[in-house]
Amino acid sequence: MGHIPRKRFGQHFLQDESVIQHLVDVIAPRAEEHLVEIGPGQGALTFPILKLSRQLDVVELDRDLIPILNARAKEFGKLIVHEADALEFDFSQLVEKNLPLRIIGNLPYNISTPLIFHLLGFADSITDMHFMLQKEVVDRLAAAPGNSDYGRLSIMVQYHCQVTSLFDVPPDAFYPPPKVTSSIVRMLPHHTLPFTANNYFHFKNLVKQAFSQRRKTLRNCLKLLMTDEDWQKTDILPTLRPEQLSVKDYVGLSNILSNVE
Ligand code: SAH
Repeated sequence: MGHIPRKRFGQHFLQDESVIQHLVDVIAPRAEEHLVEIGPGQGALTFPILKLSRQLDVVELDRDLIPILNARAKEFGKLIVHEADALEFDFSQLVEKNLPLRIIGNLPYNISTPLIFHLLGFADSITDMHFMLQKEVVDRLAAAPGNSDYGRLSIMVQYHCQVTSLFDVPPDAFYPPPKVTSSIVRMLPHHTLPFTANNYFHFKNLVKQAFSQRRKTLRNCLKLLMTDEDWQKTDILPTLRPEQLSVKDYVGLSNILSNVE
């Protein structure tokens, strides 16, 4: 009996009741909301949430877990299980009428960054996201300019969302314990973008280039994209380092450069 945790699915099951309760408290699910959990596992978070929300969609890749989830769900509410890879899942199929999605999950760490980018594609239909991730990734997601964790991931995610790191979770809260500390992150998609890139592809490429050589000056990192003449059109100093510019600065720079005919 019992499910043996599988490494290839990044399975670390939450077992610390106080951590689970803290997570449920910060998510604060309510009955009329539409919650979606990614990677429910054996339901450590699923059932306490379902008890409050009465209905929950879950996306789980490991088919062996599905009967375990279905069997226990009945006493708590209506659980809709989607046996699928969350990286390929079309979350828009879950959006009904005017009820935006609240996404939650103790994510498999090996897919957390691509999964966040996949979800950002549905940002218009999402109210908020709460995830357990490696602390190191959460620190990068939430970092402010000037911080050593601030980089491409911070900028690309903060372009779409307001990001807050909520609390840390030690390895012994899980079975089996992961090697690293985890953190809970809250991400709120902007309903109106605070700064809009005229050419998103250009902006994305500019940020990628800027951080290609972190220790160098912007003039150096961006020399393929910006001439001295281009620098004169901005009020940003080319002697700064890439981590000193805000999302607003990068969007502004991209808009100046992509408007040049
Ligand atoms: N939420 C549970 C399990 C966390 S472990 C708990 O906190 O105890 C991560 C879960 O994500 C596992 O159930 C694993 O099978 C699932 N998973 C891994 N890769 C996935 C993917 N690509 N799509 C959906 N679920 C995935």
